[in-house]
Amino acid sequence: MAKYDLVIIGAGPSGYAAAMRALDFKKKVLLIEKNKVGGAGVTNGALSSKTWWELSRETSTFRKNLKRYNIEVPSVSFTDIQAEVLRAVSERKGMLEEHMALLAQSSYSNLLEFRFGEARLLSANQVEITSGGVKSVVQTDYIILATGSRPRYLPELPIDEKLVMTSEGIEKMTDFPESMVIVGAGVIGCEYATIFSGFGRTKVHLIDKGDRILPFEDEDVVKIIERNMENNGVLIHRNSRLLTMKVVNGRVEYELEYTDGSREIFNVEKALVSVGRVANVENLWEEKVGINVDKRGIENNDTQTNISNIYAIGDLTADISLVNVGELEGRYAVERIFGKPDRKLVYENISTIMFLSPEVASVGLNEIQAKEKGIDYKVVSLEYSTIPRAIAKRNTQGFIKLLVTNDTSMKILGMKVVGNQASSAIQAVAVLISMDKGIEELAECVHPHPSITEGIQECVRMLMGKSLFKPSALRGRLSCRTCIKGAYEDIVF
Ligand SMILES: Cc1cc2nc3c(=O)[nH]c(=O)nc-3n(C[C@H](O)[C@H](O)[C@H](O)COP(=O)(O)OP(=O)(O)OC[C@H]3O[C@@H](n4cnc5c(N)ncnc54)[C@H](O)[C@@H]3O)c2cc1C
Repeated sequence: MAKYDLVIIGAGPSGYAAAMRALDFKKKVLLIEKNKVGGAGVTNGALSSKTWWELSRETSTFRKNLKRYNIEVPSVSFTDIQAEVLRAVSERKGMLEEHMALLAQSSYSNLLEFRFGEARLLSANQVEITSGGVKSVVQTDYIILATGSRPRYLPELPIDEKLVMTSEGIEKMTDFPESMVIVGAGVIGCEYATIFSGFGRTKVHLIDKGDRILPFEDEDVVKIIERNMENNGVLIHRNSRLLTMKVVNGRVEYELEYTDGSREIFNVEKALVSVGRVANVENLWEEKVGINVDKRGIENNDTQTNISNIYAIGDLTADISLVNVGELEGRYAVERIFGKPDRKLVYENISTIMFLSPEVASVGLNEIQAKEKGIDYKVVSLEYSTIPRAIAKRNTQGFIKLLVTNDTSMKILGMKVVGNQASSAIQAVAVLISMDKGIEELAECVHPHPSITEGIQECVRMLMGKSLFKPSALRGRLSCRTCIKGAYEDIVF
């Protein structure tokens, strides 16, 4: 029986990152994947949806500027867009596979083994692999489970991945639907609403049980996103509950009940159900192995499960489901097993991006979270219209908001950038937060001009009372306040 130091089940972002980190420790590793290398990080997930988003954004920017070229609105081809998405997916998946093939011909050849097949734990040290109907068993000292997640299916909805789809069905479409309802106004639902409304070929409906989308987000952020969605023709069904959804004559009919008790029936071409994801734990181990699971995923203590040589990482566990988090956990688990992690596994300061219109980048706490934690803070915000780069881009919609502790150290608690190039602007602050630094470093650094990060610098200077523009003069575009027990007050220098 083949013997390994570590067997990793699942070659999505988490498992792949764990396997590569294990090579650094010169350990004999077996990585097993039953479907596609890269998992949801590449296919029907992060990379594919972001390619859709980039192409949608490009299309809507092009449409907006047509007057400049004196041409009519051309119709965007679904087949071409879809082919481009598939090319992106295959490029990334191919690169991950090629990397492993090249490693197999290098000095790592006796360390890394990759096998296609479905894996299942027979015991805490034995893994069965089924491939092409053939079963084999391997022995291992450690196991990392990285089998990810899949879309949540609501049994009352007629999901067939054709008319009523989840994110798994998007790639199977053959044309833009003329209308589509999205069930779920969380991040993924709102991203798809942005994507499909942006192509200009689909009337998007979005079902939202609250009075605003993205309920975990600060109100100033949601306001911009909702306005842009609605300007792009998205119909947001606020305060609504989905009562029924059925397929009638090859179309989707759904009935809503609003909080005031009224009801309404709608008819659309397709539906996209985006109501969260569930961990892939079924049939992953023999009952006697006894790994503890709760309703959100595998229970773990800093990636280690209740069985001491078995670890769980990525979407399979109950914390944040993101590619960067899965990779972080994968690397951390391996460092814990074979060495000593350089740093603790912390989730507070993870940078995130929401691919909406415009993009929203965040790190650390937002105002809702700071208030929930009972933290008093200083908050400074600055509109994109004061940033030369945004003016040059001819798109000044958006703002930067920075939260710091309400004391002289002014440690950064969190930051939000809503607007063009938001994701690149946030990086400097993410680094400072992770180094537990205050704001002085940002104030003194000379940023390239013109750049969006100059706006961050101006925020910091406002907090220090030495900004170029004074918030008391440019009210509405700049603000610099304390928030103590939920009450705001201007900071006067
Ligand atoms: C539509 C969508 C958009 C997203 N956008 C973003 C984004 O913009 N940014 C971001 O950071 N994250 C995004 N995510 C989340 C991100 O894709 C996941 O958090 C990430 O892929 C999780 O990685 P993972 O390795 O834990 O799991 P997965 O990517 O799900 O990979 C698990 C792998 O395990 C394999 N597997 C399962 N069971 C077995 C078995 N028994 N034997 C062998 N192999 C098995 C599966 O085939 C799969 O390849 C998005 C997700 C979706 C669905």
